[in-house]
Amino acid sequence: MTDHRQDPPQQAISTALIHHPYEPPAGFAAPQPAVHKASTVIFASTAAARARNWKEKTGYTYGLHGTPTTFLLEERIATLEGGLQTLLLPSGLAAIALVDLALLKSGDEVLIPDNSYGPNRELARNQLAGWGIAHRIYDPMDPTAFAAMLSPATKLVWIEPPGSVTMEFPDVPALVQAARARGVRIALDNTWGAGLAFDAFALGADISVHALTKYPSGGGDLLMGAVTTRDEALHLELKYTHMRVGYGVGANDVEAVLRALPSLTLRYAAADRAARTLAQWLATRPEVAQVLHPALPGSPGHEHWARLCTQAAGLFSVVFDERYAFEQVDAFVDALRLFKIGYSWAGPVSLAVPYRLSAIRDEPAWRGALVRFSIGLEDVGDLRADLEQALTAVLGRCLA
Ligand SMILES: *Cc1c(COP(=O)(O)O)cnc(C)c1O
Repeated sequence: MTDHRQDPPQQAISTALIHHPYEPPAGFAAPQPAVHKASTVIFASTAAARARNWKEKTGYTYGLHGTPTTFLLEERIATLEGGLQTLLLPSGLAAIALVDLALLKSGDEVLIPDNSYGPNRELARNQLAGWGIAHRIYDPMDPTAFAAMLSPATKLVWIEPPGSVTMEFPDVPALVQAARARGVRIALDNTWGAGLAFDAFALGADISVHALTKYPSGGGDLLMGAVTTRDEALHLELKYTHMRVGYGVGANDVEAVLRALPSLTLRYAAADRAARTLAQWLATRPEVAQVLHPALPGSPGHEHWARLCTQAAGLFSVVFDERYAFEQVDAFVDALRLFKIGYSWAGPVSLAVPYRLSAIRDEPAWRGALVRFSIGLEDVGDLRADLEQALTAVLGRCLA
């Protein structure tokens, strides 16, 4: 160890505090990795700066192009998803947008399922349309009609197993096969599966998009997205757009995800178990017309879930009996005490959100009031008691 006190700095304190000789020791080992923050990355020489290739993970160029902390999370998400390359983005929606921006140009068309995560459609409707990129909405449960919609202009299809809010589980291999036959790229929104319920790449996806906001973070306290691939050329296409558009993520948020990943499988399994218990119980209630949970027989696409998946996220929806007005279903949600009202899911707190089906779906068969539940990590008996008291207090008296 050098004793820096023998060599007092000759500079002004403002300079000495920046160019201080002490360096923390390398080789410090702990379970949690260090958090590296940077916009600027310092090079040893002008030659070293010129020699750096920002696309390679063998070194560092600039904060936007990656730090040891972001590279570590990229590698772990790629491992989780069974992919080879991952890009990080400031939200799941930004990850969806990156795929559209990178792969579509004027004159192209993208196919989006009718039950997709809503903002995916809004992006196509309001932004892509303005750039001359068309989109068509397909019925995820009708692969034959889907195949017939593919045209030479179709350059990308989105698949979401299961769909947001209405939870139908599509026949992913049939959709993949139709798109593959036309040479169309397949992007799969893997947020629900979280890399655990099924293998997106084994099912044939070219790109897996994952809102790390959900299970990988698990805290309900940060936003992040990932775009994972298994093909270097496709990864580079996405990476160039990622770089040009300037998407970056904060090191503290990356650290929070790195900290949460070791408990991912436990949290996912616990939420799955509790959600199935509550969904099965709700299916027995007279107020409920249908429970939409892919692991429940009778739920749309259950047979595909049973064939393709081993687990399910802690997420399901309930369609209420037609005798209830939207206002009564809203009052039921307001009467819940442990379940909080809020968007997003996969955090520790259970959530409930009421939807008017006609407002979120093009397909007219979807009518009436639905509540989407995200099951957190509370005791399942307490959650069931909360549902029961709100059902009895608000809807029970309307049953007569
Ligand atoms: C939440 C979610 C997203 C978007 O993630 P954000 O980080 O909230 O932007 C995308 N797809 C699905 C299926 C989601 O549930």
